[in-house]
Amino acid sequence: MRVLLVNPKSNDLYTRVGAKMPPLGITYLAAVLRERGHQPEIVDMNVSPPVETYAGYDLVGISSLTCNYNAALEVAAAAKKDGAQTVMGGYHVTFMDAEALGTGVVDYVIRGEADYAMSDLADRIEANQSLDGLEGLSFVKNGEVIRFGGLVRVPEVESVPFPARDLLQLSGYNALLDERPMTTIITSRGCPYNCFFCSSSNFGGRVWRARSPQSVIDEVEHVCRQYGFQAIDFMDDNFTLDPKRAIAICDEIERRKLDIAWWALSRADTIVNNEPMVKRMAETGLRMLFLGMESADEEVLKSYHKKAVVEQFYEAMAILRKYRVLAWASFMIGGLTETKQAILKTVHLAKRLDPHSVQFSILTPFPGTALFNAVKDRLVFHPVYLSPRELQQYLVKAYHAFYLRPSKLLREFLDAIRKRRVMRTIFREPFRAMIISRSLAKQSQQT
Ligand code: SF4
Repeated sequence: MRVLLVNPKSNDLYTRVGAKMPPLGITYLAAVLRERGHQPEIVDMNVSPPVETYAGYDLVGISSLTCNYNAALEVAAAAKKDGAQTVMGGYHVTFMDAEALGTGVVDYVIRGEADYAMSDLADRIEANQSLDGLEGLSFVKNGEVIRFGGLVRVPEVESVPFPARDLLQLSGYNALLDERPMTTIITSRGCPYNCFFCSSSNFGGRVWRARSPQSVIDEVEHVCRQYGFQAIDFMDDNFTLDPKRAIAICDEIERRKLDIAWWALSRADTIVNNEPMVKRMAETGLRMLFLGMESADEEVLKSYHKKAVVEQFYEAMAILRKYRVLAWASFMIGGLTETKQAILKTVHLAKRLDPHSVQFSILTPFPGTALFNAVKDRLVFHPVYLSPRELQQYLVKAYHAFYLRPSKLLREFLDAIRKRRVMRTIFREPFRAMIISRSLAKQSQQT
């Protein structure tokens, strides 16, 4: 069967600041489809021109996040018009299947991890068989939404073949780490923490499923040798959830003598409790860790079910500095009962912690989160003490306060002299602050 997998154009922060990353989800689907004898193709609209016609494809699979849902519907409408059947998957429609099916342009929704479910659907459609019992599938029959099972999940994540990167237009992705070409790898799925604002635990489950260090480094070697990448973004929600596994991955990098730079996502409490792990990661190429710190207010942290305290943020930063690992800290503003003072406290904390990069976001009730369920009956959601406009203004101010500090600009300037790229840096930091803040403010308006 000819299957086209589409990643619709995205408006997200990383795409806007020019760090385009391959859509790994549909690339996994393509690998399984090919193993099953289908003919998958991939179009990532962030790097390719729009598809001229969908005629000739039997099935068009579209991945959708909340931020590109409207673009996903446009793809589905065009594909249906050209005579293809359409199936949508991803975080947004997993929790909003009835909404997507109700548009009339989406024939099927796969809820959860579609790696094998997409191929099962293609097999059955091709063989003209009943779709009964396909775990995770939703569709409309006689005006009613039919759902089989709960969310589908892959029990053995190591069993999924490596993503079919050969079907991507790899030259379109331009992310760099330490001036090295970087690509993405996923080494585990699920998250046990279940934070209030995050849908990862609902989507991937609270049981963490991890690949072995050998399998992870086989893929690292594969992308380095086959495609020439020299840096890896481990995209797992929490790469360090099992510190022993993280250390074993480092041992494997060293045993195979791989010269790579890499970055990953972790948590401040894990860093504080596992300094030897940080040391080992730094020795084997770790350049940067992303840490979700969220707020300077202990009560707000508790309301987010963050299971971390502010003191740990300082300790984590000290450990990362000790091993020369850069930090990318993420903060959120606009908690349900947050005041202007609480937001300013968070901005002040960010400046005091002084990570290399920060990300400020406005708390948003994405489908699949506990926050969404708490506020879904409200017509418009905004915190009790702040208007949406005020929140957007504070977001822009937060970025400016962090990135346009004289001390930050001076440090970047000196770093640029050291690395001989002064002109690029003179323009980079102020622009980064402006692009990021405006981009996020605009995104929050659309969501
Ligand atoms: S924010 Fe991070 S730790 Fe919390 S549930 Fe999401 S992925 Fe897990």
